[in-house]
Amino acid sequence: MTSDEFRKHGHELIDWIASYMDNVADSPVYSMSEPGAVRSQLPADAPIKPESFDDIMSDVEKIIMPGITHWQSPSFFAYFPANASPPSILGELLSAGLGVQGMLWSTSPACTELETHVMDWLVAMMGLPNRFHSSSAGGGVIQDTASSASLTALIAARERATGFASNEYGVAGNGVAKTGSARETKAVETDPDEKVSAGRGRLVAYVSNQAHSSLDKAMKIAGLGSANLRHVPIDESFAMDADKLSEMIRGDIAKGLRPFFVCATIGTTSTGAIDPIRRVGEIANKFGLWMHVDAAYAGSASVCPEFRHHQDGLELADSYTFNPHKWLLTNFDCNCFFVADRSTLIKTFSILPEYLRNKATEMGSVIDYRDWHIQLGRRFRALKLWFVIRSYGVDGLRAYIRSHVSMANEFADWVRSDEDWDIVAPVHHSLVCLRHNGGDQLNEQIMNQVNKSGDLFLTHTKLHERFTLRMAIGARLTTIENVRSAWHALRSAGHQLKP
Ligand code: PLP
Repeated sequence: MTSDEFRKHGHELIDWIASYMDNVADSPVYSMSEPGAVRSQLPADAPIKPESFDDIMSDVEKIIMPGITHWQSPSFFAYFPANASPPSILGELLSAGLGVQGMLWSTSPACTELETHVMDWLVAMMGLPNRFHSSSAGGGVIQDTASSASLTALIAARERATGFASNEYGVAGNGVAKTGSARETKAVETDPDEKVSAGRGRLVAYVSNQAHSSLDKAMKIAGLGSANLRHVPIDESFAMDADKLSEMIRGDIAKGLRPFFVCATIGTTSTGAIDPIRRVGEIANKFGLWMHVDAAYAGSASVCPEFRHHQDGLELADSYTFNPHKWLLTNFDCNCFFVADRSTLIKTFSILPEYLRNKATEMGSVIDYRDWHIQLGRRFRALKLWFVIRSYGVDGLRAYIRSHVSMANEFADWVRSDEDWDIVAPVHHSLVCLRHNGGDQLNEQIMNQVNKSGDLFLTHTKLHERFTLRMAIGARLTTIENVRSAWHALRSAGHQLKP
């Protein structure tokens, strides 16, 4: 494709996306594509000869679009939202156009420095503790997903608990020396690898029984085993019972085990419950556990000061994560991960083979984000977040979050005032858990019927073993009229299907 052809097709594609956004409300939200239906229309082998862009786009319309569930539809209420917005799409496009691989500061200084700057903006914009700001010993890094961020936290916690495994390549600077925080390269002398891995069998971690499954997965990947993840019971609001956490830690210590990590959630996946961050933090600090806070969905709400009470105690946390790709207008993928002490990440993940050595790294005065997570290569994701923050401004982002929360509260009021329906969990943000009082089977039938209609899409969870509908309001284009139509659809399905 020549530059002229690229220009032409690029303009056409932007037009196509703009029309998609304008008309997405008219498409059935949930794809009814049968398994294998998309592949059955694709040729078995890749084309030998080049094909025209027009032919490719015609197959997008014919083959791909019927297999799309419209996450950007104003009537998408499933899972949690995955917002995209025009500025974010343009930021993503620019990132692709520049084709930067930002593994080291030196591989594109702007990629690293914009990321550090935007993460620092977020600390201020969201009222996060100053220890997550790059001017302190901590800092923030953009990753793909909250799952990766939690895994990163867990592995760093494991290493901190076991004395940091050896690093034959040595530890890079990463600006750690600049702030005067610990820059230790001697762990290998004091903690040989055998001793480290022998200690791992005794490590135990804690989450509430409502925490996201990514923590179970992280325990498996980190080689600690999901059996060593304790699921702390919850209170009546589905939040972690901090007294039970304390009891479980004491019990495990008494058995000779080694508690090392706890993850509290702000906005659990099933119900949006908020764990008591300060209490959990105090317990974590008392017993020397790494405290991680997963605010994948609800964290975005902290742009509004009135939602920050949910993060009270966050200054006690070692790490924190939230997903702008869920509810802050930044298209997938974009996860923000903050740590209080970046040297723990660097000591855990730093590898400096000869072919990556460079002057800036050796001087220790720059951040090399490859040392802050698992993978080496990294995309220029900060661009789209920067585009979003600048295009909406903090005021625009606040108005956006508030509109969803207000719609969720209005929806919850309608549900409460209907005698056939109940709200079954506290509504803290824009997720509403509801149930028809006609039983599990009826609720499942209602969900299937409304989803099949194509008019809306919502998903479910189980609370105390009972089938529960989740109405997650958060698509960019959603208005109160979409929410009203969804409620009418649910109510009439309830009337129609009630035995
Ligand atoms: N944590 C919570 C509380 C979530 O709700 C989710 C996803 O919904 C995740 C983690 C995983 O997010 P990601 O897809 O970014 O890994």
